[in-house]
Amino acid sequence: MKQESLLLQNAKQEAPLSEDFEQQLALLLQTCKQYLNQVDEGLIERAYHLAHWAHRKDTRKSGEPYFYHPIQVAQIVAKDICVDDVSVAAALLHDTVEDTVIDLAQIRAEFGEEMASIIDGLTKIDAVFKDRAISRAENWRKLILHMATDMRVIMVKFADRLHNMQTLDARNREAQLRTAHETMEFFVPLAHRLGVFSIKSDLEDLCLKITDREKFNLIARGLEQKKESRNTYIEKFMNPIKQQLLEAGFEFDIKGRPKSIFSIYKKMERQGKTLDEIYDLFAIRIVLHRGGSKGKEDCWRVYSLLTDWYKPLPERFRDFISMPKSNGYQSLHTTVIGPEGKRVEIQIRTREMDDVAEHGVAAHWKYKEGTTGFKQNVDEWYAWVRDAMSSSQAENADEFVKDFRLNLFTEEIHVFTPKGDVINLPKNATPLDFAFHIHTDLGMRCTGAKVNGKMVPLSYKLSNGDDVQVLSSERQVPNSDWIKYVVTQKAKSRIRAWINEKRRKAVEAGREILDKRAKKIKTEITDQLLDKYARYFKFSNAQEMLYQIGTESFDPDDLVKQIQKGLVAEEREREKEPPTIEINAKVYEHYLGTAQHTGHSSGLIVNGQLQTNIAYQFATCCNPVRGDEVFGLVSVGRGMRIHRVTCKNAPDMYLNHSDRIMRIEWPLTGDESFISGLKVIGADRVGMINDISAVISKTMKINIRSVLVSGEDGVFTGTFVVDVKGLAQLEQLMSRLRSVEGVQDVYRFEGGKG
Ligand code: MN
Repeated sequence: MKQESLLLQNAKQEAPLSEDFEQQLALLLQTCKQYLNQVDEGLIERAYHLAHWAHRKDTRKSGEPYFYHPIQVAQIVAKDICVDDVSVAAALLHDTVEDTVIDLAQIRAEFGEEMASIIDGLTKIDAVFKDRAISRAENWRKLILHMATDMRVIMVKFADRLHNMQTLDARNREAQLRTAHETMEFFVPLAHRLGVFSIKSDLEDLCLKITDREKFNLIARGLEQKKESRNTYIEKFMNPIKQQLLEAGFEFDIKGRPKSIFSIYKKMERQGKTLDEIYDLFAIRIVLHRGGSKGKEDCWRVYSLLTDWYKPLPERFRDFISMPKSNGYQSLHTTVIGPEGKRVEIQIRTREMDDVAEHGVAAHWKYKEGTTGFKQNVDEWYAWVRDAMSSSQAENADEFVKDFRLNLFTEEIHVFTPKGDVINLPKNATPLDFAFHIHTDLGMRCTGAKVNGKMVPLSYKLSNGDDVQVLSSERQVPNSDWIKYVVTQKAKSRIRAWINEKRRKAVEAGREILDKRAKKIKTEITDQLLDKYARYFKFSNAQEMLYQIGTESFDPDDLVKQIQKGLVAEEREREKEPPTIEINAKVYEHYLGTAQHTGHSSGLIVNGQLQTNIAYQFATCCNPVRGDEVFGLVSVGRGMRIHRVTCKNAPDMYLNHSDRIMRIEWPLTGDESFISGLKVIGADRVGMINDISAVISKTMKINIRSVLVSGEDGVFTGTFVVDVKGLAQLEQLMSRLRSVEGVQDVYRFEGGKG
């Protein structure tokens, strides 16, 4: 055995483990042995002792010793992500370089280069999220950069984030909301793309619990209430199948699990349905014990046995076994008609496939065989991410992030090259996407394509199983319409880069033409002048004006003439530009001192202090009322806007302008009223509107500002804008309206723009 280093000897001597921490170590080793292929116990013990010593004086916000956090993170890495022992040790050490006296050189000396590079990546990712001033696009870029060195960096980070989300209760509300929005933006899409499904789904549920606790509780309670009837149903459904599987000699497990709260929430939002109206609250999974190619055959045999008994819905069948998703996911999916005519979703897979589905990429460490194709896939993915990141232009960073995130989530199709190779593309991909996927040059020169032997336009949407042959010509150049035809990140960023380059050249040409004219009249055309006259000629900006000159759609002489005129006039009346103000805490203080109040008599509590002399407006995207949980967003010129924390724009504000967010509370008293919109849905019956109006104005004595009603196919939809004193009154009104005969649902209407 290796001689123990001085660092470690010292750590053990100075900070001997308490009985509790001895026990935690034993538990961790036990988890590792249970879930990992190989465990270097010495490595984990050394990391444990060193991290324990490094954090010996630290406590968490909850007051418990800090070291519990790395222990829990290590547990998650071992059990839920199942990577390897190095990752478990890295999890124990993940905060040491950032927060303690230990530095990277010591990690390197003690554990070697591999460990040092993982810890370095983790430390750098932490730094990215601490820097509140950088944009989300920059955040993405840095995150990818640091995780791309070693997959285990992001795996440990997932576990760290999960444990932080689980222990958010001890943090203040701002930190909770910021962390939740950050998690939804960055970690959930990555966990999805890397196939770490169990973590992804836990993170989503925890985020929802923070951002919309009410809906979360509503769904959680609903699922709990239906638990018994659900289990009875699953049993009734599975009994005959179970019997046959046993008779046929299969070894298997059956899991009948409710879907995640978040996925149900999404479905309710998307389809505008109540919990009762959503039929597929659970899915049944049949997991077969036998692996390898025999296991695959088993899946198909079980499928045919199942569909002999229950009638399948063919359109819901998906074969992810022959065609795995690019994150490695394999399974058969089908929906059948069960007892009582209910649709039941079934997944059939082997244990190995189930492991990959739960733990994603990491599970491939366990099943070494047959992973090269997958590893290559992940490497390719990293390559295109890096590629896309480096080719994206700063000016459309927001658009890039939007596309990029979408790309992490989209469903996939599989198509074939003329040689028969399978290519995975996102749904709605076109031959142009296909061409760019093969090679950038092929994309740029693409003139058309043959799909299954027939000519198709470039905008043709490919389907599963299509044979695609790209046609190209040396003389072809892209055109700006192409951007509309493509869905993949790579194609988009390449076409955009080309358009930008073409545009840049035209702008340059425009500038040259203009400068020549200006020379003739001996005037220098400064950038300020350009900006000013771009406004005068109603261009969106100076670049656009130069572009139009460069492409000969705007006559530079018009501009030059106007500039000459203007220069004379300018001497006399100099235009006074309002100074641009940078937004920061100081400006906010200044603004507090000078702002007028808007007539809301009670003021607001801003960052813990009552402010009565402050200009603010209630955002029309979410229409807060007294009692709602809210925050303020400061912006120059528009004062402060008050939004509800559940506002659909909240994630964007937390991610892009977190330095401008103010904590807002309502003062105890106040006599202002608030405009609020209610949507009432129900049966379209005679007298419905009268009954609703009566409840609002007669029973509740609430002023109605406007009413908009429609009746279609027997469904009544009414929007009522009312003045209310606050949340309590609004909720009382909503509950009264729900008991009006024929009313099915009442909810707050969130319309308008930010
Ligand atoms: Mn941590």
